[in-house]
Parts: sequence; C-alpha cells; structure tokens
Amino acid sequence: MSASGSCLFCGIVQGSTPAEIVGRSEHGVAFRDIAPQAPVHLLVVPVRHIDHAAAVTAADAAVLADLFVLARTVAEAEGVAASGYRLVANVGEDALNSVGHLHFHVLGGRRLSWPPG
Ligand code: AMP
Repeated sequence: MSASGSCLFCGIVQGSTPAEIVGRSEHGVAFRDIAPQAPVHLLVVPVRHIDHAAAVTAADAAVLADLFVLARTVAEAEGVAASGYRLVANVGEDALNSVGHLHFHVLGGRRLSWPPG
C-alpha cells in the first residue's frame, strides 16, 4: 500500500485513524502498539509514507535521523531509556512484516529474549 492508497499508519499520522499518540517530531509520529508484546511497545513511523526499511534511500537520511531521535525521546518519556529497549524494523514475510508503512518497534520494560522467536 502507498500513501495514496488506504495505508493504516498514514491514517494514524493524518489523524483519521485513532491511536494513542505518545510523541511527534518534524518527520515522525510515535504511538502505542495496539497489541503490545512488552510493557512498553511503541511504534515510530515517518509522516511521509515509506513502504519499509528496505525502501529507505540516502535521500531519507534526515527523516531516519529524526525517527531515531524520536525513538530515544519516547523511550526516555516511557522510562525505559536507562533499563534498555529494542528497536526493530521488520522487512518481508519471514520477519512477519504486516503493515506496509515503515515503522520501528520500541520494546522495553522487561528483559527481552535474544534471538527473537
Ligand atoms: P509489523 O508486524 O512489524 O508490520 O508490525 C505491525 C505492528 O502494528 C504490530 O505490532 C501490530 O500490533 C501493530 N498495529 C496494527 N494495527 C495497529 C493500530 N491500529 N494501532 C496501533 N498498532 C497497530
């Protein structure tokens, strides 16, 4: 799905789809995952539609830097910056990527297993 189509996370960015927004930046929005896998489970997404992490190009450098800063900011606000958290971007079927709008999972608040299942 693209920005011109019915993209779930474009809807959240634009406010037409409800979500619990926890942070915003110039290029990003952070909100709570609807099916949390950890005590803190946020999603950090770009305002401008990008399909997935493998679709990122050098032209997106400023957007990506902004998203990493937003991830750190919301991790601090959620109280997991000191204890640690995981940033995950799933790409493709084997990684179980289910939403076609780039997003970084921010997972924390418990000791996470490695490797993930
Ligand atoms: P992925 O499997 O990496 O594509 O992750 C997609 C994530 O989006 C999953 O963790 C879902 O629980 C989450 N998700 C799906 N729909 C919503 C929604 N409406 N609001 C918040 N999170 C959602």
